[in-house]
Amino acid sequence: MSRFAATLFDGKSSAARAVNVEQDGKTLSICGSDGDFIRADPLDGCRITPPLGKTRRTIYLPDGARLDTDNQDAVAELELYDTKHPGMKLVHGLESRWGLVVFSLAGLVLCVWFFIAYGIPLLADKAASSVPTAMMETVSDRALSQLDKRFLEKTELPKPRIAEIRSYFNEIAGNMKGDRHFRLLFRKSPQIGANAFALPSGKILVTDDLIKMAESRKELAGIFAHEMAHVQERHGLRMVFQNAGVFFVISALFGDVVSATSLGAALPTMLVERGYSRQFERQADLAAGKYLIRRMGSTKPYRRILQRLAEKSGRNSAPSMISTHPGVKNRILRLKNLEKIRK
Ligand SMILES: [Zn+2]
Repeated sequence: MSRFAATLFDGKSSAARAVNVEQDGKTLSICGSDGDFIRADPLDGCRITPPLGKTRRTIYLPDGARLDTDNQDAVAELELYDTKHPGMKLVHGLESRWGLVVFSLAGLVLCVWFFIAYGIPLLADKAASSVPTAMMETVSDRALSQLDKRFLEKTELPKPRIAEIRSYFNEIAGNMKGDRHFRLLFRKSPQIGANAFALPSGKILVTDDLIKMAESRKELAGIFAHEMAHVQERHGLRMVFQNAGVFFVISALFGDVVSATSLGAALPTMLVERGYSRQFERQADLAAGKYLIRRMGSTKPYRRILQRLAEKSGRNSAPSMISTHPGVKNRILRLKNLEKIRK
Protein backbone atom coordinates (compact mmCIF):
# COMPACT_ATOMS: atom_id res chain seq x y z
CA MET A 1 0.00 0.00 0.00
CA SER A 2 1.35 3.43 -0.95
CA ARG A 3 0.13 6.90 -1.78
CA PHE A 4 1.28 9.51 -4.21
CA ALA A 5 0.15 12.83 -5.60
CA ALA A 6 -0.79 13.08 -9.30
CA THR A 7 -2.71 15.11 -11.82
CA LEU A 8 -5.80 13.49 -13.29
CA PHE A 9 -7.01 14.13 -16.85
CA ASP A 10 -10.36 12.49 -17.49
CA GLY A 11 -9.69 12.00 -21.21
CA LYS A 12 -12.79 13.92 -22.22
CA SER A 13 -11.79 17.46 -21.35
CA SER A 14 -8.42 19.13 -20.96
CA ALA A 15 -9.16 19.98 -17.35
CA ALA A 16 -6.53 18.87 -14.90
CA ARG A 17 -7.33 17.92 -11.35
CA ALA A 18 -4.91 17.47 -8.48
CA VAL A 19 -5.55 14.08 -6.88
CA ASN A 20 -4.12 11.64 -4.37
CA VAL A 21 -3.68 8.07 -5.55
CA GLU A 22 -3.57 5.07 -3.30
CA GLN A 23 -2.54 1.65 -4.54
CA ASP A 24 -2.66 -1.73 -2.83
CA GLY A 25 -0.98 -3.80 -5.52
CA LYS A 26 -4.32 -4.57 -7.24
CA THR A 27 -6.30 -1.36 -7.43
CA LEU A 28 -5.64 2.32 -7.89
CA SER A 29 -7.99 4.41 -5.74
CA ILE A 30 -8.15 8.06 -6.71
CA CYS A 31 -9.39 10.79 -4.40
CA GLY A 32 -9.58 14.54 -4.81
CA SER A 33 -7.34 16.78 -2.76
CA ASP A 34 -10.31 17.35 -0.48
CA GLY A 35 -10.47 13.59 0.22
CA ASP A 36 -13.57 12.89 -1.94
CA PHE A 37 -13.53 9.54 -3.68
CA ILE A 38 -13.35 9.96 -7.48
CA ARG A 39 -12.75 6.52 -8.96
CA ALA A 40 -10.98 3.16 -8.60
CA ASP A 41 -9.32 1.18 -11.40
CA PRO A 42 -7.84 -2.31 -11.53
CA LEU A 43 -4.06 -2.07 -11.78
CA ASP A 44 -3.76 -4.71 -14.47
CA GLY A 45 -5.95 -2.61 -16.80
CA CYS A 46 -3.58 0.36 -16.51
CA ARG A 47 -0.67 1.14 -18.80
CA ILE A 48 2.44 2.91 -17.57
CA THR A 49 4.58 4.84 -20.08
CA PRO A 50 8.18 3.69 -20.37
CA PRO A 51 10.53 5.72 -18.22
CA LEU A 52 12.80 8.32 -19.82
CA GLY A 53 15.30 9.46 -17.26
CA LYS A 54 13.60 11.59 -14.66
CA THR A 55 10.78 12.92 -16.83
CA ARG A 56 7.22 12.97 -15.57
CA ARG A 57 5.49 9.55 -15.73
CA THR A 58 2.03 8.85 -17.08
CA ILE A 59 -0.34 6.09 -16.05
CA TYR A 60 -3.16 5.45 -18.53
CA LEU A 61 -6.31 4.19 -16.87
CA PRO A 62 -8.49 1.55 -18.65
CA ASP A 63 -11.03 4.10 -19.99
CA GLY A 64 -8.46 6.47 -21.50
CA ALA A 65 -8.18 8.82 -18.52
CA ARG A 66 -4.63 9.43 -17.33
CA LEU A 67 -2.59 10.26 -14.28
CA ASP A 68 0.61 12.29 -14.46
CA THR A 69 3.05 12.22 -11.60
CA ASP A 70 6.58 13.27 -10.68
CA ASN A 71 6.82 10.60 -8.02
CA GLN A 72 9.27 8.23 -9.72
CA ASP A 73 9.52 5.91 -6.74
CA ALA A 74 5.80 5.39 -6.59
CA VAL A 75 5.62 4.55 -10.30
CA ALA A 76 8.62 2.24 -9.99
CA GLU A 77 6.72 0.45 -7.25
CA LEU A 78 3.64 0.20 -9.45
CA GLU A 79 5.77 -1.28 -12.20
CA LEU A 80 6.76 -4.08 -9.88
CA TYR A 81 3.15 -5.28 -10.18
CA ASP A 82 3.13 -4.79 -13.93
CA THR A 83 3.86 -8.19 -15.43
CA LYS A 84 3.26 -7.00 -19.00
CA HIS A 85 6.48 -4.97 -19.32
CA PRO A 86 9.15 -6.77 -17.32
CA GLY A 87 11.89 -5.53 -19.67
CA MET A 88 11.06 -1.88 -19.11
CA LYS A 89 11.09 -2.53 -15.40
CA LEU A 90 14.65 -3.76 -15.66
CA VAL A 91 15.77 -0.82 -17.81
CA HIS A 92 14.25 1.67 -15.46
CA GLY A 93 15.59 -0.22 -12.48
CA LEU A 94 19.12 0.04 -13.86
CA GLU A 95 18.67 3.63 -14.88
CA SER A 96 17.47 4.74 -11.51
CA ARG A 97 20.06 2.81 -9.55
CA TRP A 98 23.21 4.87 -9.87
CA GLY A 99 24.95 2.69 -7.36
CA LEU A 100 24.53 -0.25 -9.67
CA VAL A 101 25.80 1.76 -12.64
CA VAL A 102 28.92 2.82 -10.76
CA PHE A 103 29.39 -0.73 -9.59
CA SER A 104 29.14 -2.01 -13.19
CA LEU A 105 31.68 0.56 -14.35
CA ALA A 106 34.05 -0.46 -11.59
CA GLY A 107 33.56 -4.06 -12.70
CA LEU A 108 34.39 -3.13 -16.26
CA VAL A 109 37.55 -1.27 -15.21
CA LEU A 110 38.55 -4.27 -13.14
CA CYS A 111 38.03 -6.59 -16.12
CA VAL A 112 40.15 -4.37 -18.37
CA TRP A 113 42.88 -4.17 -15.73
CA PHE A 114 42.78 -7.92 -15.25
CA PHE A 115 43.08 -8.44 -18.98
CA ILE A 116 46.05 -6.09 -19.24
CA ALA A 117 47.76 -7.51 -16.16
CA TYR A 118 47.19 -11.19 -16.84
CA GLY A 119 45.53 -11.69 -20.22
CA ILE A 120 48.10 -9.87 -22.34
CA PRO A 121 51.15 -11.53 -20.69
CA LEU A 122 49.47 -14.90 -21.13
CA LEU A 123 48.72 -14.21 -24.79
CA ALA A 124 52.26 -12.83 -25.22
CA ASP A 125 53.69 -16.07 -23.82
CA LYS A 126 51.61 -18.11 -26.23
CA ALA A 127 52.58 -15.89 -29.15
CA ALA A 128 56.28 -16.01 -28.19
CA SER A 129 56.30 -19.78 -28.00
CA SER A 130 54.53 -20.06 -31.35
CA VAL A 131 57.26 -18.15 -33.21
CA PRO A 132 59.16 -20.79 -35.21
CA THR A 133 62.94 -21.19 -34.78
CA ALA A 134 63.71 -20.06 -38.32
CA MET A 135 61.79 -16.84 -37.77
CA MET A 136 63.56 -16.31 -34.46
CA GLU A 137 66.88 -16.45 -36.30
CA THR A 138 65.71 -13.86 -38.82
CA VAL A 139 64.26 -11.63 -36.11
CA SER A 140 67.48 -11.82 -34.09
CA ASP A 141 69.68 -11.09 -37.09
CA ARG A 142 67.62 -8.03 -37.96
CA ALA A 143 67.72 -6.84 -34.36
CA LEU A 144 71.47 -7.37 -34.26
CA SER A 145 72.05 -5.32 -37.39
CA GLN A 146 69.91 -2.54 -35.88
CA LEU A 147 71.90 -2.69 -32.66
CA ASP A 148 75.15 -2.65 -34.59
CA LYS A 149 74.03 0.42 -36.49
CA ARG A 150 72.78 2.33 -33.46
CA PHE A 151 74.85 1.32 -30.45
CA LEU A 152 77.66 -1.11 -31.15
CA GLU A 153 81.15 -1.09 -32.59
CA LYS A 154 83.73 -3.75 -33.36
CA THR A 155 85.33 -5.26 -30.28
CA GLU A 156 88.83 -4.14 -29.35
CA LEU A 157 89.56 -7.00 -27.01
CA PRO A 158 92.70 -9.00 -27.80
CA LYS A 159 92.02 -12.20 -29.74
CA PRO A 160 93.42 -14.59 -27.09
CA ARG A 161 91.16 -13.01 -24.46
CA ILE A 162 88.14 -13.44 -26.74
CA ALA A 163 89.05 -17.07 -27.38
CA GLU A 164 89.53 -17.75 -23.68
CA ILE A 165 86.17 -16.23 -22.69
CA ARG A 166 84.37 -17.87 -25.57
CA SER A 167 85.58 -21.29 -24.56
CA TYR A 168 84.49 -20.60 -20.96
CA PHE A 169 81.10 -19.49 -22.29
CA ASN A 170 80.76 -22.67 -24.36
CA GLU A 171 81.54 -24.73 -21.29
CA ILE A 172 78.67 -23.05 -19.41
CA ALA A 173 76.36 -23.40 -22.41
CA GLY A 174 77.18 -27.13 -22.49
CA ASN A 175 76.15 -27.44 -18.85
CA MET A 176 72.85 -25.65 -19.38
CA LYS A 177 69.70 -27.68 -19.49
CA GLY A 178 67.55 -27.48 -22.62
CA ASP A 179 68.36 -27.75 -26.28
CA ARG A 180 69.11 -24.11 -27.07
CA HIS A 181 72.24 -23.29 -29.00
CA PHE A 182 74.16 -20.36 -27.51
CA ARG A 183 76.78 -18.19 -29.20
CA LEU A 184 78.80 -15.38 -27.65
CA LEU A 185 79.41 -12.14 -29.53
CA PHE A 186 81.76 -9.34 -28.50
CA ARG A 187 81.14 -5.66 -29.16
CA LYS A 188 82.55 -2.36 -28.03
CA SER A 189 79.99 0.26 -27.02
CA PRO A 190 80.86 3.57 -25.39
CA GLN A 191 77.14 4.34 -25.57
CA ILE A 192 75.78 1.49 -23.49
CA GLY A 193 78.84 0.82 -21.35
CA ALA A 194 79.29 -2.41 -19.42
CA ASN A 195 76.38 -4.51 -20.57
CA ALA A 196 75.18 -7.87 -21.83
CA PHE A 197 72.01 -8.89 -23.58
CA ALA A 198 70.51 -11.89 -25.26
CA LEU A 199 68.82 -12.23 -28.63
CA PRO A 200 65.98 -14.75 -28.96
CA SER A 201 68.03 -16.99 -31.25
CA GLY A 202 70.58 -17.64 -28.49
CA LYS A 203 73.18 -15.08 -29.50
CA ILE A 204 74.45 -13.33 -26.40
CA LEU A 205 76.23 -10.00 -26.69
CA VAL A 206 78.77 -8.70 -24.20
CA THR A 207 80.50 -5.35 -24.33
CA ASP A 208 84.23 -4.85 -23.94
CA ASP A 209 83.58 -2.75 -20.82
CA LEU A 210 81.80 -5.63 -19.12
CA ILE A 211 84.62 -8.06 -19.88
CA LYS A 212 87.16 -5.54 -18.56
CA MET A 213 85.13 -5.04 -15.42
CA ALA A 214 85.06 -8.75 -14.56
CA GLU A 215 87.77 -9.56 -12.05
CA SER A 216 87.48 -13.29 -12.65
CA ARG A 217 85.92 -15.75 -15.08
CA LYS A 218 83.58 -16.83 -12.32
CA GLU A 219 82.03 -13.37 -12.25
CA LEU A 220 81.12 -13.75 -15.91
CA ALA A 221 79.52 -17.15 -15.31
CA GLY A 222 76.57 -15.53 -13.52
CA ILE A 223 76.08 -12.98 -16.31
CA PHE A 224 76.20 -15.69 -18.97
CA ALA A 225 73.81 -18.00 -17.10
CA HIS A 226 71.43 -15.07 -16.52
CA GLU A 227 71.35 -14.17 -20.23
CA MET A 228 70.98 -17.83 -21.23
CA ALA A 229 67.92 -18.05 -18.99
CA HIS A 230 66.40 -15.06 -20.82
CA VAL A 231 66.85 -17.02 -24.05
CA GLN A 232 65.47 -20.28 -22.69
CA GLU A 233 62.39 -18.58 -21.29
CA ARG A 234 61.91 -16.57 -24.49
CA HIS A 235 61.82 -13.39 -22.41
CA GLY A 236 62.88 -11.16 -25.33
CA LEU A 237 59.93 -12.01 -27.55
CA ARG A 238 57.54 -12.15 -24.63
CA MET A 239 58.50 -8.59 -23.63
CA VAL A 240 58.20 -7.34 -27.20
CA PHE A 241 54.73 -8.88 -27.49
CA GLN A 242 53.67 -7.53 -24.10
CA ASN A 243 54.87 -4.04 -24.92
CA ALA A 244 53.26 -4.14 -28.32
CA GLY A 245 49.91 -4.93 -26.76
CA VAL A 246 46.99 -7.02 -27.64
CA PHE A 247 46.54 -6.46 -31.38
CA PHE A 248 50.11 -7.35 -32.15
CA VAL A 249 49.83 -10.44 -30.00
CA ILE A 250 46.56 -11.62 -31.49
CA SER A 251 47.82 -11.12 -35.02
CA ALA A 252 50.90 -13.17 -34.10
CA LEU A 253 48.72 -15.94 -32.77
CA PHE A 254 46.17 -16.08 -35.55
CA GLY A 255 47.51 -14.31 -38.57
CA ASP A 256 50.50 -13.32 -40.58
CA VAL A 257 50.54 -9.60 -39.83
CA VAL A 258 53.57 -9.80 -37.59
CA SER A 259 56.65 -9.93 -39.70
CA ALA A 260 60.28 -10.58 -38.89
CA THR A 261 60.89 -6.95 -39.83
CA SER A 262 58.50 -5.49 -37.27
CA LEU A 263 59.71 -7.80 -34.51
CA GLY A 264 63.34 -7.20 -35.44
CA ALA A 265 62.73 -3.47 -35.18
CA ALA A 266 61.00 -3.66 -31.80
CA LEU A 267 63.59 -5.89 -30.15
CA PRO A 268 66.57 -3.47 -29.91
CA THR A 269 64.43 -0.82 -28.24
CA MET A 270 63.23 -3.35 -25.70
CA LEU A 271 66.73 -4.71 -25.01
CA VAL A 272 68.59 -1.43 -24.75
CA GLU A 273 66.00 1.15 -23.68
CA ARG A 274 63.09 -0.51 -21.92
CA GLY A 275 64.49 -3.68 -20.43
CA TYR A 276 62.77 -6.78 -19.14
CA SER A 277 60.11 -6.83 -16.46
CA ARG A 278 61.21 -7.43 -12.88
CA GLN A 279 59.51 -10.80 -13.01
CA PHE A 280 61.66 -11.91 -15.94
CA GLU A 281 64.78 -10.59 -14.20
CA ARG A 282 63.93 -12.59 -11.11
CA GLN A 283 63.40 -15.71 -13.22
CA ALA A 284 66.74 -15.25 -14.98
CA ASP A 285 68.55 -14.57 -11.69
CA LEU A 286 66.98 -17.63 -10.13
CA ALA A 287 68.16 -19.81 -13.01
CA ALA A 288 71.63 -18.24 -12.88
CA GLY A 289 71.79 -18.61 -9.07
CA LYS A 290 70.81 -22.27 -9.23
CA TYR A 291 73.40 -22.90 -11.90
CA LEU A 292 76.16 -21.17 -9.93
CA ILE A 293 75.36 -23.04 -6.73
CA ARG A 294 75.22 -26.33 -8.61
CA ARG A 295 78.53 -25.77 -10.43
CA MET A 296 80.54 -23.58 -8.05
CA GLY A 297 78.78 -23.79 -4.74
CA SER A 298 78.28 -20.01 -4.48
CA THR A 299 76.61 -16.99 -6.06
CA LYS A 300 79.20 -14.64 -4.58
CA PRO A 301 81.17 -13.80 -7.75
CA TYR A 302 77.91 -12.97 -9.55
CA ARG A 303 76.75 -10.79 -6.67
CA ARG A 304 80.10 -8.97 -6.70
CA ILE A 305 79.93 -8.03 -10.36
CA LEU A 306 76.28 -6.97 -10.02
CA GLN A 307 77.29 -4.70 -7.16
CA ARG A 308 80.10 -3.18 -9.22
CA LEU A 309 77.79 -2.71 -12.22
CA ALA A 310 75.29 -0.93 -9.97
CA GLU A 311 77.96 1.41 -8.61
CA LYS A 312 79.17 2.19 -12.09
CA SER A 313 75.73 2.78 -13.55
CA GLY A 314 75.16 5.38 -10.82
CA ARG A 315 77.87 7.50 -12.39
CA ASN A 316 76.94 6.73 -15.95
CA SER A 317 73.67 7.89 -17.44
CA ALA A 318 73.79 5.46 -20.37
CA PRO A 319 71.52 2.42 -20.03
CA SER A 320 73.36 -0.51 -18.52
CA MET A 321 72.61 -4.04 -17.51
CA ILE A 322 71.73 -2.59 -14.11
CA SER A 323 69.63 0.40 -15.04
CA THR A 324 67.54 -1.78 -17.32
CA HIS A 325 67.61 -4.44 -14.60
CA PRO A 326 66.15 -2.52 -11.67
CA GLY A 327 66.32 -3.27 -7.97
CA VAL A 328 69.91 -4.50 -7.78
CA LYS A 329 69.94 -4.52 -3.97
CA ASN A 330 66.99 -6.90 -3.93
CA ARG A 331 68.54 -9.04 -6.61
CA ILE A 332 71.73 -9.45 -4.61
CA LEU A 333 69.78 -10.24 -1.48
CA ARG A 334 67.70 -12.83 -3.30
CA LEU A 335 70.83 -14.53 -4.64
CA LYS A 336 72.28 -14.62 -1.14
CA ASN A 337 69.09 -16.15 0.25
CA LEU A 338 68.99 -18.70 -2.53
CA GLU A 339 72.40 -19.88 -1.36
CA LYS A 340 71.09 -20.38 2.18
CA ILE A 341 68.11 -22.40 0.93
CA ARG A 342 70.19 -24.57 -1.37
CA LYS A 343 72.92 -25.41 1.14
ZN1 LIG B 1 68.42 -9.68 -17.42
